[in-house]
Amino acid sequence: MDLIKVKGIVIRETTYKDNDKIITILTDKLGKISCMARGAKKNNSPILANSQYLVYSEFVLYKSKNFYMVNSATIINMFYKFRTNFDKMEKAFELTRIINLITDENEDTSLVLKLFLNTIYILENDLKNDDMVIATFKIKLFCVLGFYPNISKCSQCGQVLLNESTDKKYVYYDYVSNIFLCDTCIANKELKRLIKLNKSTLIAIKYIASCDIKKVFNYELKDYSDLLNFSVVYTDAMINGI
Ligand SMILES: [Zn+2]
Repeated sequence: MDLIKVKGIVIRETTYKDNDKIITILTDKLGKISCMARGAKKNNSPILANSQYLVYSEFVLYKSKNFYMVNSATIINMFYKFRTNFDKMEKAFELTRIINLITDENEDTSLVLKLFLNTIYILENDLKNDDMVIATFKIKLFCVLGFYPNISKCSQCGQVLLNESTDKKYVYYDYVSNIFLCDTCIANKELKRLIKLNKSTLIAIKYIASCDIKKVFNYELKDYSDLLNFSVVYTDAMINGI
């Protein structure tokens, strides 16, 4: 029996029979995997805590037929504050719901794990505004999976959108076509499929897309409202498009 050691966080748990659980773990080496945690529901189980939602552990696994089984585990971080604050827990549910939707089992998710751990650490410790953290996570998530928002030029006329010298203040995001447009090119478009983004929001999106995961929250915006709107429609556009 070959033992495999991975670090990972539980992003979904389901009861299986009376005492077992099937847990979905976002791991550093195996991607997102489903794993059987035998006896994990028993009060005296050594993996009782490790098989709970949002617990980050080092797992020792083995493969039985086509299924991973938990052999043993050691807690790295329980993220305690989420367990006593339902508002925070709901935010974690929102993030893991998206991760579960857009990642496939066994694809490389090491960067998604890094981004997610970083995000819940910031949320747990109230280091930034929660809405800004969630919006940033959503935009960066698609970037680490290889989908970058194409914000450098207007998709229709090719004009550079982030030109400092231009007096144009706004850029438009067409969430039906998932493209960015300048104010000239929106003239004949249906306005309800567009959201207006100010220049500083566009600079923030560009920063989020290109920076290192560790620094993704290291920016300031006077007003987050455009960024929040963008993150919601962009996430929907990407989920529907992938
Ligand atoms: Zn244009």
